[in-house]
Amino acid sequence: MTFSVQTPERECLVDVGGRVREAVGASGVADGLCTVFVPHTTAGVTINENADPDVARDILAFLAEKVPRDWRFRHGEGNSDAHVKASLMGASVQVPVVGGRLALGTWQGLYLAEFDGPRTRKIHVVVVPGARP
Ligand code: ZN
Repeated sequence: MTFSVQTPERECLVDVGGRVREAVGASGVADGLCTVFVPHTTAGVTINENADPDVARDILAFLAEKVPRDWRFRHGEGNSDAHVKASLMGASVQVPVVGGRLALGTWQGLYLAEFDGPRTRKIHVVVVPGARP
């Protein structure tokens, strides 16, 4: 299934765990593998801590410092930093599904990583049945 997310800022991590859980539930798959894929070049997806919001802030601040927008990029669109950051995050993650639920760790959250927002982004969720981990 596919759902859309409206991102609120140029750079932000949006927790999409709830929407992905809904998709896993709708799939009817008890045990298998869930792939979360972002079909964009200036946004990615990542798994990290969702307990302390400072972790997400730190990730964004670190990336902003290490990949400055005004670096000597050739791409003329002015959003090359966003392309680099999106590749650093990656376009997909995979999470085991066990007993119909995402087997995320206690402190793990699933984030859409926006680097050229605000925009409406799509997220594809594919759940395939398979063995338990
Ligand atoms: Zn571009």
